Amino acid sequence: MKRLAILGSTGSIGTQTLQVVEAFPGRFEIVLLAGNRNWQLLLQQAKKYHPACVVVTDTAAYENFQRENREQGLVVLCGMQGVLQALEQFPLDMMVGAMSGAAGIEPTLKALELGIDLALANKETLVSGGGLVRKAQTKSGAAILPVDSEHSAIYQCIEPNSKCLHKILLTASGGPFRTWEKEALYAVTPAQALKHPNWSMGRKITIDSATLMNKGLEVIEANWLFGVDYDHIQVLIHPQSVIHSMVEYGDGSVLGHLGPADMRIPIQYALTWPERRSNPFPKLDFTQLAGLEFFVPDLEKFPALALAYAVGRVGKSAPAVLNGANEIAVAAFLKEEIGFMDIPALVAWVVERHVPVEIENFAHLLEIDQWARGQAQEFVKQHQR
Ligand code: NDP
Ligand code: MG
Repeated sequence: MKRLAILGSTGSIGTQTLQVVEAFPGRFEIVLLAGNRNWQLLLQQAKKYHPACVVVTDTAAYENFQRENREQGLVVLCGMQGVLQALEQFPLDMMVGAMSGAAGIEPTLKALELGIDLALANKETLVSGGGLVRKAQTKSGAAILPVDSEHSAIYQCIEPNSKCLHKILLTASGGPFRTWEKEALYAVTPAQALKHPNWSMGRKITIDSATLMNKGLEVIEANWLFGVDYDHIQVLIHPQSVIHSMVEYGDGSVLGHLGPADMRIPIQYALTWPERRSNPFPKLDFTQLAGLEFFVPDLEKFPALALAYAVGRVGKSAPAVLNGANEIAVAAFLKEEIGFMDIPALVAWVVERHVPVEIENFAHLLEIDQWARGQAQEFVKQHQR
């Protein structure tokens, strides 16, 4: 039995992880579940999966959870401190990192320090703290299995010890505004941006997919995960989301990973790795596909992608600033405080004001992240609608 912690168990990735666990009775033991505000769902999950420990990171939600909780012997902890304590206290084989945003960074680093293998969905951790993640991983030898569908695809296509990997072809659906005119993007509403054509995901990543910032974050994520430089990571718009990414080799061979647009597949691969196992989920029917298309991304319309490449190339603390600023921008857009095209404008504005430095440790990263958020708030104040 693989002992699992699922951080962000109440979210899109978290709930799909639990579906995967259910598809393999007897293979996984849920030891730890952590959620933030959705204490009702967390309580249902505790009743169903009987973890040893539940952490509620939001204080008010923790109090509500405790008021209703009747589970005998269940250890219930509060806050990020509770998450860190639980990771130390309970023996674990793997942690699924599925909190959204920069909140996921600290527990991810903690898990790696403790030598716990990581199924990593939280791309913000690698974008902001890639260097710290590498350091912690090298020290403990823990494995990092990507959950992000593109990176899972690449992971599966990279031949161990290959000497002639040429480039990574990172596919992107293009989001809901792929065919829109640039001028129309200024008037996009949160409701329009929250309608992703192919994937059902949490709100933050759905907005990131609409601006293509998500693809930008994934370019930086790929650079950290696979050590491929930015000149050899090419983003390819592929609206059907059937090919989840590809790897080109120097002999002209291209290996791709194809499948339904179902996050349970990459989640499962990370959970059962190094084995591949049959599951009951729907399979791809090629006879039903109308065709596969590929386009070059329009960087004029989606400046966030070009910005992420530039910031990734600068490295050091620049990606952490991009990430922190973007989180504030997305939240402000969802509250209708700024417009859709203000998101990349805000992020560029904050990035330009930053002088990149090497990130020394987590406290330093937090300081930089807070600075970026403060600057981003400043932009929101100035541009508020
Ligand atoms: P959701 O918004 O659906 O879920 C986020 C989870 O994190 C919830 O459990 C939420 O708790 C918890 N959470 C939110 N804020 C905090 C916080 N401040 N502290 C602690 N926990 C918090 O997001 P997704 O599942 O879509 O995404 C999770 C991560 O996976 C993101 O980093 C995303 O980029 C990545 N990812 C997601 C994909 C997808 O298909 N959804 C695909 C690839 C990557 P609660 O709901 O209880 O408040
Ligand atoms: Mg992805």
